[in-house]
Amino acid sequence: MAAPAKEKKAAPPDLPVLYVRGVGPRKGEAFERAGVHTLRDLLYYVPRRYIDRTTATRIGSLRGETKGEVTVIGRITDARLVSARGGKSRYEALLSDGTGDLKLVWFRQTNKIRRWIREGYAAAFSGKVNLYGGFPQIAHPEVMALSRGEMQDLREGRGRWIALYPGGQVFEKVGLEARPLRNLMDRIVGEYNGCLPEIWPDSMREQLALPRIREAIELVHRPHNRREKDRGWLRLKFDELFILQLLWAWTRRRTREQTKGIAYPAVRETTRALIEKKLPFELTGAQKRVLREIWADMKRPHPMTRLLQGDVGSGKTVVALVAMTIAVENGFQAVLMAPTEILAEQHFLTSRKFIDDLEVPVELLVGGSGAKQRREKLAQLAAGKPGITIGTHALIQEAVQIPKLGLAVIDEQHRFGVAQRLTLMHPGRTKGSAGAEKPDVLVMTATPIPRSLALAIYGDLEVSRLDEMPPGRGTVQTSAHNANADRRRIYEEVAKRVRAGDRAYIIFPLVQESEKVDLAAAQQGREELLRGPFKGLAVGLLHGRMPVDEKGEAMAAFASGQTPVLVSTTVVEVGVDVPEATLMVVEHAERFGLAQLHQLRGRIGRGGRDGRCWLLAYPPVTQAARARLQTMIRTTDGFVIAEEDLRIRGAGDYFGVRQSGLPPLRFADIVEDHDLAKRARQVADDILARSRELTDYPALRDEFRRVALGKATWLEAG
Ligand code: ADP
Ligand code: MG
Repeated sequence: MAAPAKEKKAAPPDLPVLYVRGVGPRKGEAFERAGVHTLRDLLYYVPRRYIDRTTATRIGSLRGETKGEVTVIGRITDARLVSARGGKSRYEALLSDGTGDLKLVWFRQTNKIRRWIREGYAAAFSGKVNLYGGFPQIAHPEVMALSRGEMQDLREGRGRWIALYPGGQVFEKVGLEARPLRNLMDRIVGEYNGCLPEIWPDSMREQLALPRIREAIELVHRPHNRREKDRGWLRLKFDELFILQLLWAWTRRRTREQTKGIAYPAVRETTRALIEKKLPFELTGAQKRVLREIWADMKRPHPMTRLLQGDVGSGKTVVALVAMTIAVENGFQAVLMAPTEILAEQHFLTSRKFIDDLEVPVELLVGGSGAKQRREKLAQLAAGKPGITIGTHALIQEAVQIPKLGLAVIDEQHRFGVAQRLTLMHPGRTKGSAGAEKPDVLVMTATPIPRSLALAIYGDLEVSRLDEMPPGRGTVQTSAHNANADRRRIYEEVAKRVRAGDRAYIIFPLVQESEKVDLAAAQQGREELLRGPFKGLAVGLLHGRMPVDEKGEAMAAFASGQTPVLVSTTVVEVGVDVPEATLMVVEHAERFGLAQLHQLRGRIGRGGRDGRCWLLAYPPVTQAARARLQTMIRTTDGFVIAEEDLRIRGAGDYFGVRQSGLPPLRFADIVEDHDLAKRARQVADDILARSRELTDYPALRDEFRRVALGKATWLEAG
């Protein structure tokens, strides 16, 4: 185990990197620029990868390409610069170890390499072996000069793993190329490891099967094998995930347990009438379950902060309507906020349809309403009369007075970052007078969020899932095509079906980040279709820049069948509900993300009849785009599509992760370390339940404060 502490320098973890022995001002500057400011940061400056240099491989035993890296010890017997066409040159060397020859090749930095790797030079070379023209070679091997003893160890399988640190020009300029950087890190770990406080009490740490921090740092920087490396990393990953989950658990507790909210006394007649008499269908099992979860929150004397996830068409709006009705019949105001005016209007129409003669006033408040009307509605809101108001997100962003606000429903929350959401979801911190009861908040999203992401990004929320579709829904068949080859034929088929009574969406993408250009593409597309296969058909147009009345008209004309074809930019993406629409053509499908394609396709086949969706791709189509189209053909399950999307893109690029405002994880991987994150959440909950101010865990509390304050200044807003 670790050496006794007295051998180590007793340095504070916050020691500026400049004062760490062996660093100094010049190198310190390079580290600073890499975001390494203190001794603590240095110890956490982990290798980006490792080379397994436990055993040397004999060249003679190499059979073709290798999966992983191998290390070969030998002597250079021949070396030369080879010029290739186009002025480029490469440097080639022949390495022999007595059992065979291996070619080494460099394509970059050849001038530097040729002065160094010359005939007679002996060292250890590591890398992956490729076959080139049938001859084995390693391109850009890691080179390490070894002492005689080290060579012997390596030959006999007593070598070690070699750490490779993230370096680059900033470091190279101050003489810290790969090898000196490695040596410096090795010295620093040797000299200073042990200065980091241990945050876990022994018993808990053992229960979690984690090494001490001091051991973990040693294993991460200087492992002898994979097992040691993994053990070290496990600790760093767990700590990182744990602090994040502790942050969420802390926020959850503050809102859900310590903030005063409304305890609704009962579900009464009106809600019952809505569910039993007014809704023309039986709620699905999932809707009932979710409503029970929501009601359990509503009757507690603390605010609800719940995320409702459900695929397009799973019936979220209906769930929201029931919840709002409960709020209203208990004497409160409820608001539903949609991301666009079109959607607000749609929600308004749906709500009125189901609620009309119940004693629940429903109002629509969007920018398009006249100034006078708008003032009247605002005055009504300010008077605190119980009722439902539906609008856009502007509803809460403006200084709108809603004195008896009991429930706020936010639709399509994926357009928010974490910071915005926290302001909305935890209003106790930013709004309202002290002691006032905080409203319940329900966020609805049609973007199914992979579980692993939900845990990291929405850790402050309780999550409900509508994982069951209402019955009687049609299936949608999907195919992808090369537009150049099949476009004409497809539009002719669409035209034929429309003439027979079907309705079709034709979707144009956001070509540029400009709605103007976008609009032009859609307009042009429409005209071209009208001249060609759609000749004589009534074709509507819908796009983001239309005034709200015109949008409403275009939608209404499509819904009534007056214009059975609707050419649209992606504004139909969310929530639009025309049950009769069964056909969809997506132009430039290769440009859309999976989530978006899924949302779009969710617009058709809603009325119980089967749908048909054609995805038109224009070459060149990238590998990733191809994978997206394949996924769309294969499945219509939103949760499967979401997991697939995450896999194709990786977490760093996944919708919502970057916008979420969370700092990226340094050690853990959101997807691969999902189980570890679950464990971390569990432990965070347990610890806060046992010691709500963390007083029983002083070291942990200090660390939490240090990390959490940096990560979450937004938590302290207001
Ligand atoms: P979402 O908001 O999740 O996209 P909606 O609430 O708009 O879904 O519901 C989609 C459609 O399904 C609407 O026409 C709605 O009236 C209908 N619907 C909702 N719940 C049910 C149910 N339990 N049974 C049958 N139809 C339902
Ligand atoms: Mg909806």
